[in-house]
Amino acid sequence: MPKGHHYGRNQTRAYTTEYHRIHANVFKPLLKAPLGNYSISSEYLNDNHRKLKLEENKNGVRYVTFTINDKPHHIVLKLDNRSASNKLYITCPYCQKQRQSLYAIKNAYGCRQCIGLHYASQSERPQERLMRRIRKLRKELWGNDWPFVNDMFEQVAYWPKPKWIRWKTFEQKRNKITELEKRYWPMAVKQMETMFGKQFIPEHQK
Ligand SMILES: [Zn+2]
Repeated sequence: MPKGHHYGRNQTRAYTTEYHRIHANVFKPLLKAPLGNYSISSEYLNDNHRKLKLEENKNGVRYVTFTINDKPHHIVLKLDNRSASNKLYITCPYCQKQRQSLYAIKNAYGCRQCIGLHYASQSERPQERLMRRIRKLRKELWGNDWPFVNDMFEQVAYWPKPKWIRWKTFEQKRNKITELEKRYWPMAVKQMETMFGKQFIPEHQK
């Protein structure tokens, strides 16, 4: 067990190094440059990740927009005036957090954390493992033929007790599944945010 866990962590780290990282400093000249279209000169980036539009909002905050896969990716340039070094931060288009660098991935720019989630969700999804476990436990109680047995939008709380099982045992097993279902949903929502963007973030998660 501990070995497997350790291995998983190494894997996560490897993902970020496969992708080209752009540091906030790359954007520093844009704080004073005229607004308009620019291109990052880098042989590692493709056209979509290179071409950007520099704009400024009413409050004088500058941001750049990349059009990747026909979708706009906004990155805000935030100068930290409190520090003597005048450090520049860039915001991640997905989580909107201030970062010192972002990574170019296939159809996006994202921070290390968001990309970690993105790739974790594509390969070894924790929520997929949890989903498999939930389905397995459901089948043990209701059998393979129960129509909703694989349906993750259905909750076992309302499903009938099979005849062969005692009430007490049934309730214990059912409550266990309900508990797992409760753990499953936040993970699934988190994954949707990462894959589809912030328009999917539920209101309460701000
Ligand atoms: Zn992010």
